[in-house]
Amino acid sequence: TAAIDIAGVVKAFGYGEARFVALKNISMTIRDNEFFTLLGPSGCGKTTLLRILAGFEAVTEGKVSLFGENIARLPPNKRSVNTVFQHYALFPHMTVAENVAYGLRRLKRPADEIRQTVERSLQLVKMQRFSDRRPGQLSGGQQQRVALARALAPQPKVLLLDEPLSALDLKLRQAMRTELKQLQKATGITFVFVTHDQEEALSMSDRIAVMSEGHVQQVGTPTDIYEHPVNRFVASFIGDANFIETTIETVEGGIATCRTRRGLALNVANLCNHRPGDKATLFLRPEKLRLSSSGSGVTSGKIQLVDYLGQTTVYGVDIGEEAPILVNASNQDNGDFTYGPGDPVSVDFGSS
Ligand code: ADP
Ligand code: MG
Repeated sequence: TAAIDIAGVVKAFGYGEARFVALKNISMTIRDNEFFTLLGPSGCGKTTLLRILAGFEAVTEGKVSLFGENIARLPPNKRSVNTVFQHYALFPHMTVAENVAYGLRRLKRPADEIRQTVERSLQLVKMQRFSDRRPGQLSGGQQQRVALARALAPQPKVLLLDEPLSALDLKLRQAMRTELKQLQKATGITFVFVTHDQEEALSMSDRIAVMSEGHVQQVGTPTDIYEHPVNRFVASFIGDANFIETTIETVEGGIATCRTRRGLALNVANLCNHRPGDKATLFLRPEKLRLSSSGSGVTSGKIQLVDYLGQTTVYGVDIGEEAPILVNASNQDNGDFTYGPGDPVSVDFGSS
């Protein structure tokens, strides 16, 4: 079943000369119990879409339904939706427990129930020991946990999270990824998570919507989006990518010979649907390429740059094209670690 159905949503701000269309025709379906991520560069419209779901903004055109109900005229507090913002906005004069109880008090729930729910919510985010502290006595990560507990306490059907980890340092951010994912599975609440961080999106999401400039470019699972990006924007936004513009010369036995602008010939499988004369942009992930010194690869060149990253090393190989081709080699067996600038290497497509 669909938790959220977004159909043909347009959002314009301002009028006349100042009119700016932030969302240009957005349609997507978010399933119940899903960890769904809106991913895209700053300014692409993620927060605007989240604010529409929360009820803080009205759509200019289009329709939004929550569990089958059109919510266009439903004020924020009448929606079974809660939001966690980047800046956790806890009440500084209240204790942790009072902060978490706040929403429940406003809903006029009985005192006993409030006490139990606060306890359970703090337990979920591992903050029950801190219930009597004030926000000023907590670290940033702990405050964000309390903000999560506060948003979860009224048991919304949907939790909206707008870059909730971006103010935390790297180690904590990585730990929180796993916890957030577990929290979503444990509560069964549909999460709509906003981030501009592709790694965060890949590691946590059931599905991702990649956005740019007010459009949805692709919706899919992390592997769909990484392995089968529908266009160049998605391919280069999610991880590193090499693009090589070529023209196909011959297609024989499932192997196409592609000629690059500078005249380099490359033999590529899986281009069977193409004909001689067609243009083809080769899209190659750096970690799918292999380096060797044997001279037997698809193409050869010279090492131009070496970027040692610990687990892997990224090599830029000059193959005579405009940009060096990037090869991400694992340092697992130290084998690839031996190349240095100027070394002649051959590049192979690996086995995929
Ligand atoms: P993101 O969250 O992806 O960074 P936003 O949704 O915040 O992007 O903003 C999308 C675009 O809409 C931006 O260009 C932003 O300047 C514009 N925008 C957002 N809110 C308003 C507003 N209230 N008035 C005018 N323009 C706005
Ligand atoms: Mg934003």
